[in-house]
Amino acid sequence: MNELEAPVDVLIAGGGPVGLSLALALSGSGLSVQVIDSMDEAQVAALPDERHLALSEVSCRALEAFGLWPTLAAEPIRALHISSRGDFGSLLWRADEQGLGRFGAVARAKALLQGLRAAVRARSDVALAAPARIVAAEAGAEAVTVRIEGLPAAAMAARLLVIADGADSALRRAAGITATIDDYGVDAICCAVRPARGHGGTAYERFTRSGPVALLPQGGGLCGAVFVVPRGDVARMVSLDEAAYGAALQDAFGWRLGALRVAGQRVSYPLRRVAADTLVAPRQVLIGNAAQAVHPIGAQGFNLGMRDALALAERLAGARSDPGAPELLAEHAAVRRPDRDSVLADTHRLALATTSGLPGAGLARSLALLLADRVEPVRAHVINAGMGFRGRTPALARRA
Ligand SMILES: Cc1cc2nc3c(=O)[nH]c(=O)nc-3n(C[C@H](O)[C@H](O)[C@H](O)COP(=O)(O)OP(=O)(O)OC[C@H]3O[C@@H](n4cnc5c(N)ncnc54)[C@H](O)[C@@H]3O)c2cc1C
Repeated sequence: MNELEAPVDVLIAGGGPVGLSLALALSGSGLSVQVIDSMDEAQVAALPDERHLALSEVSCRALEAFGLWPTLAAEPIRALHISSRGDFGSLLWRADEQGLGRFGAVARAKALLQGLRAAVRARSDVALAAPARIVAAEAGAEAVTVRIEGLPAAAMAARLLVIADGADSALRRAAGITATIDDYGVDAICCAVRPARGHGGTAYERFTRSGPVALLPQGGGLCGAVFVVPRGDVARMVSLDEAAYGAALQDAFGWRLGALRVAGQRVSYPLRRVAADTLVAPRQVLIGNAAQAVHPIGAQGFNLGMRDALALAERLAGARSDPGAPELLAEHAAVRRPDRDSVLADTHRLALATTSGLPGAGLARSLALLLADRVEPVRAHVINAGMGFRGRTPALARRA
């Protein structure tokens, strides 16, 4: 790999779950694909293991198509329970009552990342170079040239640079793409808990005035807990002993699953909405958190990024011409727009509405829950959207 070699077709900057998913979706397309990620295996192995991801049905099917499913130990989501603390009304939807086998599944974020890295390394037509960091990119008429730290070759050329380096994307800025950032002033604290009662495959989300509390089903009778708290309380909450933290979580979540016992370390994540003002620059395109990072309410971030990756892979594989052609990138941005706009707007609205203490807000929340539960077209729309069926379903996620 050096600047004198012919450009690769697609260079993916960032081997997070979204960048790696794009690489796997492009495998077999005939395009040459290189992923560069700044973390080595030891750094990935040292990542905390407390974060769980609720995967939409579309994401599950893509991961099945990538051959990852057997190693993921993902727990199917067979029911959804949504409630709002202090308001009346709650809803419980069972997948079998909707004629479905599952709504999605829950996987450990670290297991997903490790599985995706292993799957990419096992393919002969996509390559992962790590640890290495792309530190600059310059777009020319025929290719983008990137500067790399950590590899023998200090530079590399690509016909298309896919920017998948996460919410704090330095390459987004380097491409001259601005982003709108809203800091929610809250953090999500993640940990595993063991409830006294079996979860029965139910994913719980409870809205409270400080933010949502989610309990996601895991194997071995465990749940992945996500507890959103004001940033000023985070240090104290993380340093509480397990009994005291369990009591705080119990107070917010309630007793639906009996007593909750905390079963592992706690890790906190500051929550911000980051929305790139455009998705493309000459010979460059943003996907995943580099394009948009959303509040975890409704569990949409990775699932949206996976749809970015699947849509881009289909467009690139279908195009017989230059993968960095401006018209191809413009079409991709236009196709992704309705999905990303609606997820960005819906998650933001939900995050604000569920914490609002304004007069009438509680009644509005209760009525919204009742509406979603009782009005069939609303229920069907919410379930379909939550499962990732928004607009055209990517071929990898379609079933006969
Ligand atoms: C508390 C919490 C709960 C969540 N729950 C859910 C959920 O239930 N469902 C869901 O769908 N989503 C969820 N999300 C969102 C989800 O975690 C993210 O959307 C997803 O991880 C984004 O993946 P990514 O690959 O785009 O970015 P990242 O995971 O940030 O990966 C970026 C990668 O780029 C690499 N990198 C950075 N800079 C460079 C560079 N210059 N050169 C090379 N490599 C570089 C980094 O090493 C990293 O590996 C949650 C998020 C949080 C915080």
